[in-house]
Amino acid sequence: MQVVNVGDLTIDVIWKDIKNLHLSVHPPTGRIRIAAPHALGLDAIRAFAISRLRWIRKNQHKLAAQPREAVRDYIDRESHYVWGERVLLRIVHQDGPPSVRQAHRSLVVCVPSQMARDDRHSLIEAWYRESLRHAATPVVARWEKQLGVSANRLFIQRMKTKWGSCHPESGNIRLNTELAKKPPECMEYVVLHELAHLRERTHTDGFYQLLDSHLPQWRDIRQMLNSLPLSTPAD
Ligand SMILES: [Zn+2]
Repeated sequence: MQVVNVGDLTIDVIWKDIKNLHLSVHPPTGRIRIAAPHALGLDAIRAFAISRLRWIRKNQHKLAAQPREAVRDYIDRESHYVWGERVLLRIVHQDGPPSVRQAHRSLVVCVPSQMARDDRHSLIEAWYRESLRHAATPVVARWEKQLGVSANRLFIQRMKTKWGSCHPESGNIRLNTELAKKPPECMEYVVLHELAHLRERTHTDGFYQLLDSHLPQWRDIRQMLNSLPLSTPAD
């Protein structure tokens, strides 16, 4: 990788075995990256970047304008979200194995009093993963049946830039743990989107027709998902 400066912008350049230049702006900071074919020199890459300055600035502004979740301390009375609903953390200090459970508008976290913030975070994160797996499993089964596809494995994990992904060769589906904090229809949509990639690998017209026929309101859901706060990736 090489770093190129164009005006006040810093651009990461990597050369890859590809045919066309590819420009992207990445959350959360708006880092700019250009992937270039091996044969292309720095002057050509710089000229390309200059020709796309307006696009770069527009996308950086879009990222800067998107709300971000506050950094959490995982302390008593702190506000969190579960399936789109606000809940308050209730930290109960007790010895014995730590546990998390949801009770009417609160998330009750039983932990030893000396447990560190990062450990409380990991514990709650694991609870979100379980909650998402529990809720997504029947949704995967239902969409599999409707689409006539079969996924291999379902992974739930922290993802910095995507809500989900599908690897058509292995048939594995990945969902972002953060989906357990958003309204359930967001998870419904992401599961459908990823499973639809088992029928159509890329975003072809046929892919969008699949979404239209199975979840006609998918565009509204996607828009809602993209307007919701991003998590703080460093957290
Ligand atoms: Zn896709």
